[in-house]
Amino acid sequence: MQVILADVLGMCFGVRDALAVIDDIDRPDAVTIHGELVHNEKVIEQLHGRGFHMVEEDRRTSLPVTDTVLITAHGVSRKERRRLEQAGKRLIDTTCPLVTRAHDAAQKLQSEGCHVLVIGKPGHVEVEGIIGDLDDFTIVPSVDAVREYPHRKLGIMCQTTTPADQAERIRRAVEQKNPHADVRFIDTVCHPTKDHQKALEKLLDQVQAVVVVGGRNSNNTKQLVRRCADRGVPAFHVQDAADLRPEWFDGIDVVGLTAGTSTLEATIRGVHQSLRAMRSELEAVR
Ligand code: SF4
Repeated sequence: MQVILADVLGMCFGVRDALAVIDDIDRPDAVTIHGELVHNEKVIEQLHGRGFHMVEEDRRTSLPVTDTVLITAHGVSRKERRRLEQAGKRLIDTTCPLVTRAHDAAQKLQSEGCHVLVIGKPGHVEVEGIIGDLDDFTIVPSVDAVREYPHRKLGIMCQTTTPADQAERIRRAVEQKNPHADVRFIDTVCHPTKDHQKALEKLLDQVQAVVVVGGRNSNNTKQLVRRCADRGVPAFHVQDAADLRPEWFDGIDVVGLTAGTSTLEATIRGVHQSLRAMRSELEAVR
């Protein structure tokens, strides 16, 4: 069995920079991470091990116990930032600049008088941060959710990890269903997400199955898995090498390997090595 790696895979600069800030914190016990730093269970385990306080994403309405609070790469609303600052918290901000760009796009559309259509996953922490500062918005998770809106001006922007083709299909559906409206669109899908997806398209032309490495709650990892299914290629979502099952690869000659933007390099390496070891075992049996 041949193993082909995607040209672009694994950790993006936003997550890497956030982890570098975290690495430099010398008193983890004095800092609360406000939500999951990244949607990667391995990383979360390591942070727990170092002694950081953590507030689960759906419990962020209570005030952190420490004086210092770390804002994660997914960002928070300006309202939430103010609430923490007014409570006397010192903030360490690891918000990815491309998430900030998405917030700014939503604000711009709102200030231009648009009803803001946020393409994204309802309840996702990044989407929650964006809508936290909007007065007039609708979250649009799919093409099927698009409807006729009564507003004269519609402004569309996207959660940063939205597949680019999905954003485009939603934009077209909004225009078709709302011919009366002035529709504006700001593409806020981040370039690492686009690069991962493009690399996956290329990989899918060459393989019979794909192993996708990433956290269970990682939106961009799930999008990679979904794209494989859309193209009719079996995808196996694993968190690390221990999740791999040799029987998945019966009859498979070429397997692809990709990983979400919050996956550690060491985890990808571990999965790659295990796949190569399976290759040797399968070749010995054949
Ligand atoms: S996935 Fe994109 S927006 Fe999110 S942290 Fe990475 S680079 Fe930033």
